[in-house]
Amino acid sequence: MPTPERHAPAPAPDRYAVVGHPVAHSRSPFIHAEFAKETGQRIQYERLLAPLEGFENTVREFAAAGGRGCNVTVPFKFDAYRICPRHSPRAELAQAANVIRFDTQGWFADNSDGAGLVADIEHGASQAIAGIRVLLIGAGGAGAGVLGPLLSASPAELVVANRTVQRAHELVQRHHTLARAHGVSIRASGLTDAGKGFDLIINASASSLSGQASPVPVEVLKPGALAVDLMYGSAAKGFLDWARQQGARARDGLGMLVEQAAESFFIWRGIRPLTAPVLLALRAQIDSGPPKS
Ligand code: NAP
Repeated sequence: MPTPERHAPAPAPDRYAVVGHPVAHSRSPFIHAEFAKETGQRIQYERLLAPLEGFENTVREFAAAGGRGCNVTVPFKFDAYRICPRHSPRAELAQAANVIRFDTQGWFADNSDGAGLVADIEHGASQAIAGIRVLLIGAGGAGAGVLGPLLSASPAELVVANRTVQRAHELVQRHHTLARAHGVSIRASGLTDAGKGFDLIINASASSLSGQASPVPVEVLKPGALAVDLMYGSAAKGFLDWARQQGARARDGLGMLVEQAAESFFIWRGIRPLTAPVLLALRAQIDSGPPKS
């Protein structure tokens, strides 16, 4: 009788996670599971709630347990940059990171938020950024992460408006050289003195969380402008309704979320997944209520 063929057990899938506080709302596990299915990559992706004072420990424990990398969300993006010895140029400029790869020669921090936002605006919303006037609201982790890639898309002008003006000034200061290289006129402002008639307004502040319709006055909108809130679901509703009422085109942050995840997947796996089908599935999920796990 022939001896039965023996198969070696399949290796365990590579582990990744999103680390945040809170993190239960995160859609990243769903997005990465879809990318893995589509590309045939064997990965497992989980949510990790880190205590507010325990981000670094949480990440170190995950890496020691065999994790290969993680995404980082609010409020740890500046910590993520700080704990890594190696950074991409875009993370260096932002001094904030949303992706870590646990390389053996030293953890590598990157920032995929800006690439995700620019891809969603240019391809998802079909709005070219070159030559237009852009208002970026917010100078926190998200604002810092998207500014460099926005400048690299060569708008004519970019104003960073923030509640704490000093933070906007510091961010602009760090990006002067990049702005000059791309021929962009850049300045900082408060929320009420940003100027008028922008073609593209990006709300990268947390204003929507406090139920505010808009942190800036209506005159910032040029007729037909594109207004993007980095939030999505009910959190983005106030800002998006306000923009539509003023005749602007409104877009939430779901497309950016999927695009920045695709960029993270590429950083870890070297493969670029398709984003459109995942965005469609996620949109249907969001419309039908909160995550089930
Ligand atoms: P953060 O580092 O805590 O920064 C918060 C920013 O919002 C700061 O600029 C802060 O101004 C401003 N702010 C807070 N409350 C405000 C209010 N009531 N009015 C006006 N400005 C206010 O947070 P973050 O990491 O930048 O994230 C911001 C939001 O973007 C988060 O809600 C996050 O979920 C979202 N996001 C989405 C994606 C995506 O993929 N769609 C990616 C990244 C982030 P001060 O400097 O004056 O405090």
